[in-house]
Amino acid sequence: LLLAYEPAKRLSRLQVGLESGLVGVRLMFEILDRPSKLVEKHEAPALEIDKGSIIFNNVIFSYQQDDPIIKNLSLTVKGGERTALVGPSGGGKSTLLALVQRFYDVSDGSVCIDGQDIRDITLTSLNDHIALVTQDTVLFTGTVGENIAYGRIGASQEEVEQAAKDAFAHDFIMGLPDGYDTLVGENGASLSGGQKQRLAIARAILKDAKIVLLDEATSALDSESEAKVQAAFDRLSEGRTTLVIAHRLSTIRNADKICVIKAGSLMEEGSHDDLMANEAHYAKLVHLQFED
Ligand code: ADP
Ligand code: MG
Repeated sequence: LLLAYEPAKRLSRLQVGLESGLVGVRLMFEILDRPSKLVEKHEAPALEIDKGSIIFNNVIFSYQQDDPIIKNLSLTVKGGERTALVGPSGGGKSTLLALVQRFYDVSDGSVCIDGQDIRDITLTSLNDHIALVTQDTVLFTGTVGENIAYGRIGASQEEVEQAAKDAFAHDFIMGLPDGYDTLVGENGASLSGGQKQRLAIARAILKDAKIVLLDEATSALDSESEAKVQAAFDRLSEGRTTLVIAHRLSTIRNADKICVIKAGSLMEEGSHDDLMANEAHYAKLVHLQFED
């Protein structure tokens, strides 16, 4: 089955759901952005999701030939737990999130979700079980409600509002000039970084995927926003597997496991207390990033 087939179906469903050409265009670009050589196996089954565990088995990955970015990395993300990826910029954290979504195929080794190699399942089913929360590409031009509903096509207004409430976003939305009908995105109402993140979290709550990938914002939020984003993320994490590129000490300390990724390798893993006691990579990072 050619990759191009499924997206066409998804696209038409989406346009029926939202009647917004812009959303369709955005989704199309997202999918066209995938390298075209990524194909589904003939008659690939759908991912059968259980606890949502993710295992990287001896993964080697290069964007360009002979320049490995991920170097024989093995890492277990337990189902239902919060795993934080930390480490210096350029170490390969975002690449690992891209590999889980099968945005690229590994050069060697494998990535498995609940025991299934992600190259052996349909891309649609993989997408269906993963929600991505990032700081940048959060909003498209449309209403606040449409931006949340993008998480699950066909969601009712009540479901959209419930997700917004769970993400601590309902109150600020009600304070916007047209509430859920307020236009955002280019030329729309401007939102703060913390508000955008809570919309992205509301969208992910509505999607109700077992696996959540979060690329946390590096930019500082004021402490009230930070507390609300944290609370929304706590809500989202409940009963889900979360793999977070963490930049805030509060997120890192709340993780069940912290993995230090540096130069494409897993240098160290464990709890905050264990890793501080090790006085190695993690402890050094904490001293550099979070002290004074
Ligand atoms: P981190 O998220 O830890 O900062 P990244 O995964 O973004 O690290 O990057 C790891 C390395 O891969 C960096 O050297 C970066 O320049 C390189 N890289 C990232 N994306 C691409 C790409 N699309 N093409 C080529 N190299 C890339
Ligand atoms: Mg990154």
